[in-house]
Amino acid sequence: MDVNCYCGSKISFQECCHKYINSKQNPLSAEALMRSRYSAYATQAVDYLVATTAFLQRQLLSKKDILEWSQSNEWNKLEIIETTLNTVEFKAFYTDLYHESHIHHEKSTFSIEDGKWCYVDGEFY
Ligand SMILES: [Zn+2]
Repeated sequence: MDVNCYCGSKISFQECCHKYINSKQNPLSAEALMRSRYSAYATQAVDYLVATTAFLQRQLLSKKDILEWSQSNEWNKLEIIETTLNTVEFKAFYTDLYHESHIHHEKSTFSIEDGKWCYVDGEFY
């Protein structure tokens, strides 16, 4: 039996975020994209994280940094706090290399480019 998706949706990873990460479908909402990006961190799907970042911001990304950040933490839980059409406020609970627990609290902004939802930037709390 498949494990529940990393994003906390209570459906399997295959039926949930994986179908976006392997590009079979595009997320139809900012929240679905955000959830799939969390699952991409949990599964080190760096190419997906880069591909779903807005064009201007994408230039600034380092695949190596994303890979290191995704690998050095254990992604424990995602909590969605508030969603609007183009923003998602969330808390990502993770454990670092030293087994310390952290909460990444962010309100992300998304937009649609070439008909696909993408991550623009975030406010951090
Ligand atoms: Zn999911």
